[in-house]
Amino acid sequence: MTRGILLDIEGTTTPIRFVYDVLFPFARKHAHQHLGDNEQRALKHEYDADVANGLTPPPWSSGAIHYVHWLMDQDRKSTALKTLQGNIWQEGYRLGDLRGEVFADVPDALGRWHNAGVDIRIYSSGSILAQKLLFSTTPHGDLTRFLKGHFDTTTGPKTNPSSYTGIAATFGMPPSEILFISDVVRELDAASTAGLQVLLSVRPGNPPQPPHHYESVTEFGAVGISGLQSVVMAIEALEHIQLAMPAGQENLARSFYSDLLQIPEIPKPPQLSKRGGVWFESGPVKIHLGIDPDFRPAKKAHPGLLVRDLNALVLRLRAAGIDIVDAEPLPGFDHVYVADPFGNRIELMERQ
Ligand SMILES: [Mg+2]
Repeated sequence: MTRGILLDIEGTTTPIRFVYDVLFPFARKHAHQHLGDNEQRALKHEYDADVANGLTPPPWSSGAIHYVHWLMDQDRKSTALKTLQGNIWQEGYRLGDLRGEVFADVPDALGRWHNAGVDIRIYSSGSILAQKLLFSTTPHGDLTRFLKGHFDTTTGPKTNPSSYTGIAATFGMPPSEILFISDVVRELDAASTAGLQVLLSVRPGNPPQPPHHYESVTEFGAVGISGLQSVVMAIEALEHIQLAMPAGQENLARSFYSDLLQIPEIPKPPQLSKRGGVWFESGPVKIHLGIDPDFRPAKKAHPGLLVRDLNALVLRLRAAGIDIVDAEPLPGFDHVYVADPFGNRIELMERQ
């Protein structure tokens, strides 16, 4: 059962490109206008820690702005920097110079999960303020109405299991009922260690991840809420189809599927071959003919096969004496029906 969903932002709800091409340059350009006393104090605190740790930021005496740029150049997950950026972005969003961006499937999914009673929260290295601004100004409207909570690095690093333990406690439910989605395997490792369900987000522009054993999603439409096993759509693709045929007529099957449709025959696995029947496979096209002692042709149910040159195939089939049944117009396709030698209906389609 999934009662809570915790979402990363960059690479998960929002293109990484948005952060690097829009937000970061905007913050860099406007940083100098936002370095008040409080900001400088917080930055100096981190500066001293960096120096104590043997790092070599530009001298503080040259101005806090240089330290800010140094942090930005290294993409440091600095809390003081994040706070400063949050303030800059807040003004940008308020003035309409910035608008939040999410992947197209995100608003629907948030609404669907929300309507199903799921508690949805955000955990991102961007400050809580920046998170709220992003989600409240998207072209799809204010999405913060779907979000019950926000967490940033003040809760702890995203690669530390205890961060997720702490966040799970605020949900008021066992970690096992919370699903965390992120594009970073090390974050999934941490959340998984804390007992959360996890899914890897694979979005355009995301950097490759190290080898892992997590399930992944390319969009949120595939994410259900009824439990971990059904979190990812169970069915990925059609592996093969099986059609029935009467016993002892494998050669007739070969003449149609292999000679006319030109789907090569492949040997059946030895333990299956004694049952008779014949398999035809070419790449993802896999049609298996199996013996049915009570065979009756499938006159309605049928596979629809995508064809490259339908006219040429129709000529070849006609020349072999196969009846071609023209079909109702179908938007986007030319298509006909034929029957295999056993009377099984086959649809042949070509994209227009
Ligand atoms: Mg991310």
